[in-house]
Amino acid sequence: AANIDENPYRADFPLLANSPGLAFLDSAATAQRPECVLEAQKVFYETMNANPLRGLYGLSIEATEEINEARATVARFIGADDPREVIFTRNTSESLNLAARSLGDLLLKPGDQVVISVMEHHSNLIPWQQVCAEKGAELVYLYPNDEGLLTPEEIEAKIGPKTRIVSIAHVSNVLGVENPVHAIADRAHEMGAVCVVDAAQSAPHIKIDVKELGCDLLAFSAHKVFGPLGIGVLWGKMALLEKMPPFLTGGEMIDSVTETEAVWAPVPEKFEAGTQDAAGIAATAVALDYVDEVGLDAIEAREDALVAELDARLRAIPGVTVYGPTDATKRHGVVAFNLEGVHPHDVASLLDSKDVCIRAGHHCAQPLLTYLGCDSTNRASVAFYNDRSDIDQLVDGIEFVRGIFHGSC
Ligand code: PMP
Repeated sequence: AANIDENPYRADFPLLANSPGLAFLDSAATAQRPECVLEAQKVFYETMNANPLRGLYGLSIEATEEINEARATVARFIGADDPREVIFTRNTSESLNLAARSLGDLLLKPGDQVVISVMEHHSNLIPWQQVCAEKGAELVYLYPNDEGLLTPEEIEAKIGPKTRIVSIAHVSNVLGVENPVHAIADRAHEMGAVCVVDAAQSAPHIKIDVKELGCDLLAFSAHKVFGPLGIGVLWGKMALLEKMPPFLTGGEMIDSVTETEAVWAPVPEKFEAGTQDAAGIAATAVALDYVDEVGLDAIEAREDALVAELDARLRAIPGVTVYGPTDATKRHGVVAFNLEGVHPHDVASLLDSKDVCIRAGHHCAQPLLTYLGCDSTNRASVAFYNDRSDIDQLVDGIEFVRGIFHGSC
């Protein structure tokens, strides 16, 4: 097992290195960035800043090349063959809005079904709600079993001949479970549907291979994978992307325009209207290279040990309920929990006074929390730069909260 008492990574992250007493356990919301990522943005602005795609001079060409090299890096990171299948957006939410709008126009007729799960983040739920309402299609939900897992029976029952689109979280941002994307994509394809994957919570933790997953589109955010805020990715199979209509329109996404109509640029530019954040995109590539350097195998082994420790220590505290699978090996990155009789906002605020950062609330997954029978939870989440001392600090902090709320009992 990985040694979580040692931490060779924390020093790479300036915010953490500069905050020695801070237990940052909210990486599922946004991760910290290593020095090399911060440096990459600076280098871009200091040495190659110009509007990409617009100029014919050296600087602009360099900026364009940065974007195209980053496409190749992203493609490598997710096991895609063709860098042109990588579209840059602002975040997972925008990627999924693109997918829903564009696939909705391409595929949905009244009476068709779109299948998602009840554990989706609102980003993979509201776009489909909206598109289904507009197209007269039905939104159908997959429900997990008591352990938070989607069973083969549920998948077979819900994905059927009326299904045109299935969109599913690879890893839940509340339960931490990894959904059986491969089986879901297979079933979707058998039924003639396409499969979209929200990889926002898997990309930082497990090796993604779009060919192995067998999906048609896949979205994630750079800011959760140690990259900058404001950069998202949507990968798609070229044959599908070529058929999909654009989402946002305007500059850079056309081949030619007349007063009455326009001819779209080829993929990926067709989906990238307006000036791209070339600095952010360049830094995203640096972040993914950094992850590869640390190694996803090492990351996974370390995080498995951290999550197992976190899960066991939380369950050992009287009054704590942990949500999701009892088997900690079925979780990636996050552990959601409640402390009996104490609102999660109070838990998180009091933990903040002990320099412990966790998330509290509905985690943008309200239908899941309703399904679990609660309004909100606490959520501690880890990255490979955490170590045992962060978990100790969290557990001590929760004991402090218990002392305040349950002290007189
Ligand atoms: N999907 C999941 C599973 C997430 O956890 C998140 C972020 N909390 C998102 C989508 C949305 O990501 P972003 O806010 O970067 O658009």
